[in-house]
Amino acid sequence: MSPFPKSTVLGYPRIGPRRELKRALESYWDGRSSRAELDRVGAEIRERTWRRLAELGLEGLPSNTFSLYDQVLDTAVLLGAVPARYREAADPYFAMARGTEGLAPLRMTKWFDTNYHYIVPEIGPDTVFKLDAGKPLAEVREARALGFETRPVVVGPVTFLLLGAALDRLDDVLGCYEELLSALAAEGVAWVQLDEPALVGDRTADELAAVLAAYSRLGSVSDRPGLFVASYFGDLGEALPVLHETPVEAIGIDLVRGGVPALDLSGKTVVAGVVSGRDVWRTSPERALAALGAVRASEVVVSTSCSLLHVPYDVAAEPELDPALKERLAFAEQKVAEVVALARSPLRDAPPAEPSVALPGPVVLEERGPYAVRAAAQAGHLRLPPLPITTIGSFPQTGSLRAARAAVASGTLAQADYERQVEAEIERVIRVQERLGLDVLVHGEPERNDMVQYFAEHLDGFAVTRNGWVQSYGSRCTRPPILHGDIRRPSPITVRWATYAQSLTDKPVKGMLTGPVTIVAWSFVRDDLPLRDVVFQVADAVREEVRDLEAAGVSIIQVDEPALRELLPLRRAAQADYLEWAVAAYRRATSGASDRTQIHTHLCYSDADQILAAIDGLDADVTTIESARSGARILGTVGSFGRGLGPGVYDIHSPRVPGAEEVAELLRRTLEVLPAERVWVNPDCGLKTRTYEEVEAALANVVTATRRLREAP
Ligand code: GLN
Ligand code: ZN
Repeated sequence: MSPFPKSTVLGYPRIGPRRELKRALESYWDGRSSRAELDRVGAEIRERTWRRLAELGLEGLPSNTFSLYDQVLDTAVLLGAVPARYREAADPYFAMARGTEGLAPLRMTKWFDTNYHYIVPEIGPDTVFKLDAGKPLAEVREARALGFETRPVVVGPVTFLLLGAALDRLDDVLGCYEELLSALAAEGVAWVQLDEPALVGDRTADELAAVLAAYSRLGSVSDRPGLFVASYFGDLGEALPVLHETPVEAIGIDLVRGGVPALDLSGKTVVAGVVSGRDVWRTSPERALAALGAVRASEVVVSTSCSLLHVPYDVAAEPELDPALKERLAFAEQKVAEVVALARSPLRDAPPAEPSVALPGPVVLEERGPYAVRAAAQAGHLRLPPLPITTIGSFPQTGSLRAARAAVASGTLAQADYERQVEAEIERVIRVQERLGLDVLVHGEPERNDMVQYFAEHLDGFAVTRNGWVQSYGSRCTRPPILHGDIRRPSPITVRWATYAQSLTDKPVKGMLTGPVTIVAWSFVRDDLPLRDVVFQVADAVREEVRDLEAAGVSIIQVDEPALRELLPLRRAAQADYLEWAVAAYRRATSGASDRTQIHTHLCYSDADQILAAIDGLDADVTTIESARSGARILGTVGSFGRGLGPGVYDIHSPRVPGAEEVAELLRRTLEVLPAERVWVNPDCGLKTRTYEEVEAALANVVTATRRLREAP
């Protein structure tokens, strides 16, 4: 077996430094360009990546980390797990990813605790696995033609099957992996990387037995490349001794999220992830070298903690960032350079342990009164009808607003002109809601590019990037803000828009804020403070905004926390502690409001059994939650909160306009389970991705349905 190269990365961004792939995909999907054009852009991105990694001095280059949509979907195709209904589609791959006129796409969900979304493999008892190694082989050959030997990266069998909830199919799938290993060996490939991030979660004895069986079997394939099993996003825990027992030659360990294993791994190569793939900070060479020196193994290779897919390409593409901040930053390019430098450095002794910071206990500043007292105080002045109708906050984001924001940024539109445009949009949104007959209005969020970035732009301690795009799914990217210092709110952020909206109408207008957990979850955060303390700082800024909104006469304030579930630690043992401080942070943000002020919260999902108690703990007066897709199931569970509840009456993710009778039927079923005085009527989520036409038609039907029920419950 040839030795593992001294330095590597587990994967690299693939959307293109200027989002070339995004543009190529969208143009292909719209029929504006050919498949050949899309493939040309893909090939160009791959070539540039390999050349750049080699130029930076990286020795072990990965391949098959490029994807036209998602690496889990690629793995499903590799194994032949394409459900029959997609096989006849013009393009089965994109049909699975995005659906077609007649076919819904496969389900998509978050990749472990990241903001990347993968396509969930659909594996049934009659799925016939059959290897199609075209893509990884083609990438190996393509790189070789450019003069590079590469290590193909594929999702490993255990993780793939766990994601598809089909571990019972292990034997069948292993046949394909065996064939893949032989095919790669025949191609002259020296090493293959099998990604097994699922092994850093809590695994049952049976699942660990499956790991042992899988890698013992793959290890005994007679002619195969070296096997490198990569784990990331945490500690391998009990899975490490299991892997150690198998014939795999190399094991990837995340030394940023996890600790140096106590286990002596002699006989194995350890691919040591000391450069973080999850943050944007420079690596401390002292700490990294100490960790590398502490690993006991036959060989230690320097690597990233996970794929660099989760960070932007290049700090050099950010000319507007403060130079002092830039000094501290490392995006993908800089992280590769760090890996290379570490691989060339002599190991050092461990630095002295840093004094651990004493945490303040969770401080809920002042408590609001009990719900009954609050509800009475609110009913007295809000005077809402039964089954009050509201929306989640955003109204359609128009192209002209987006263009106006871009024009302000490039200096071709004056700020004052932009603000007039925002006001005009707010007025339009208010009039639409009045005309339709909604009860609690919103201003529509036209001033926000994004529910987190907008707040980041208005808080000290945050920086926003120009090109720092990170793939979220398919062609979608986000630009997470960078939280780099202490958070301070120099002045009120939303008060002016909220009061403007309220000045236009006699109906109550809800103030609209993003919660502290969500702001942090969708940002890159500093790593010199415990996450909890960072969230508390943000909570204090939100608290000031809540107070200012209240003082300005806003009587209903919604604080959204759609990312509450996202930061949930992968291991159960750590979850309770997280939920405790996350809830404390939310209450810290909202408890400055008086009993008369009605606090709403919104979550985009309800299939979150682990966090139901936490949602209850937020103690919001009204909780709006997704339910059109998950059905009545949620009503029983979330309904027991004993406060206001707005289970969404229609799915905003689809352009379909729900009929009035359909909404009425849903409300009837809701009222069978919940007392009418606690039920709110609202869509599942914000309306920003819909058109005005769709929104007005849908809301008109929602109002008709609600009136029907008010009259004849
Ligand atoms: N208030 C936000 C909106 O309506 C909530 C978005 C979300 O739930 N992700 O757009
Ligand atoms: Zn939502």
